[in-house]
Amino acid sequence: MNQGARGRVRPARHTSYFDLLEELARPGCAICRLAKRTTFRYLDMLSYENVNDPGVRATLRGSRGFCNYHAWQFSDEADDGLGTAIIYRDIILNVGRLLPDGSGPAVSLRRSLAEFGSGPSSPGRALAKHLAPRGECLACHQLDLLTRVYVSTLIEHLDDPQLSIALSRSSGLCLPHLRQALARAEEPEQVEFLTRVMGEAYARASHADGDAAMALPLLVGAPGVTLALPPAPDGFVRGEAEALITPGDGCPVCRGAIAAADTRSRELASAKDEAVGALCNNHAARYLDLGLDSDGMIWGQLLAGLGERLLGTPRPAASPRGPYVAALAALGGQPVPRPGADLAKELAPSVACPACLAQQEAEQAITALVSQEEHGALCLSHFALGLLLPTDPRTLRSLATLQASAYEGIVASLSEFIRKRDYRFTHEPPGEEADSPERAVALVAGARGLSSVGVLPGAPRPVAGRRPARSGARG
Ligand SMILES: [Zn+2]
Ligand SMILES: [Zn+2]
Ligand SMILES: [Zn+2]
Ligand SMILES: [Zn+2]
Repeated sequence: MNQGARGRVRPARHTSYFDLLEELARPGCAICRLAKRTTFRYLDMLSYENVNDPGVRATLRGSRGFCNYHAWQFSDEADDGLGTAIIYRDIILNVGRLLPDGSGPAVSLRRSLAEFGSGPSSPGRALAKHLAPRGECLACHQLDLLTRVYVSTLIEHLDDPQLSIALSRSSGLCLPHLRQALARAEEPEQVEFLTRVMGEAYARASHADGDAAMALPLLVGAPGVTLALPPAPDGFVRGEAEALITPGDGCPVCRGAIAAADTRSRELASAKDEAVGALCNNHAARYLDLGLDSDGMIWGQLLAGLGERLLGTPRPAASPRGPYVAALAALGGQPVPRPGADLAKELAPSVACPACLAQQEAEQAITALVSQEEHGALCLSHFALGLLLPTDPRTLRSLATLQASAYEGIVASLSEFIRKRDYRFTHEPPGEEADSPERAVALVAGARGLSSVGVLPGAPRPVAGRRPARSGARG
């Protein structure tokens, strides 16, 4: 322990301090990079060590696996297929057992679901409630913990000469992480330093002509790191939903919803609409993937505006009670004054992500339209959404029967996949089971790139800067 410049006791320099120092020297938001790297390490460890841990497996069953983003990160980056096959077979079997009379193995699912719909008045709603995740995505939980550690470390060492110089020379924290840091700051000097240094960083970045790949992550954060979901739309549109139903593999609602979000992003790009600044981090990344950043002008303008705003922010008033009184208040269990809290709130996006809204509208509209027999099984979220929509018992039955047969099929493929990983059978050539881990992830977590994770009633809804709520089922 040593004394800080302003007499505060500065904590020892832990690994997180040196991690920050190192990452601040690289381009992009250091906290995004660290959060992404450490979350990947967590998933990697889970893949190799914890897949067979009964406690971890039970938690994963309850949360219905990972959220969409982390499910695909696990399957694509951290795992070689076996861990995914084991985890998702477990979840799908468990989901099957939660269905009415589904106490037996997968073979009984079809029968139990065929009977479903003839019971009490609202069987769809009751089943949707059963299917809802109990608990948040394990990776989101880790991500949130790690982000808090790094934001706290940054604030605690803000008067450390090495770190403050590294921060002022860095390309800047992204806006969501700047807001977290401002909200965490305890002294007006820290707020003043952050607003000045980040105002300058954003102004510098806004001059990097047409480089949307740099500007966009600064405004919204890296994909999957600062998970931000908009509030659900009030109503939903049914118009044009038919046009969104296209042939293809997997959940038709996922497919149509992703297409609807893409269409909205293209509209924003061609209109040079400033609403692109409200895109969530996942849709912002998608925007870049779609090549919609033809000149990057709009990002430069948004960043320049943000930089000006930060540089024009007056210094927050010093706490009238002084740091020692504040420390005593904290010891006495009273809230510590946070001089940057108001500014952090003011910098929050005032509107929901337009692509998320388009996606959610499409999810509702397409689910209402999709006829199961024609279009194939739905992912778990969209299946539950279908159960919640007002539907006649016959449609519910056909929806559930098709779902059950998809579960049976995938469980058989996953079992075959797991069997062939046994050293005694590795000489057998791969068959249709080869891509079953990916198909299982899609069937549970939804298609790759489906940004929303909050469709299922009771599903955790991660919000930027906050731990995902553990809300109960709303159904
Ligand atoms: Zn960031
Ligand atoms: Zn997650
Ligand atoms: Zn889906
Ligand atoms: Zn979005």
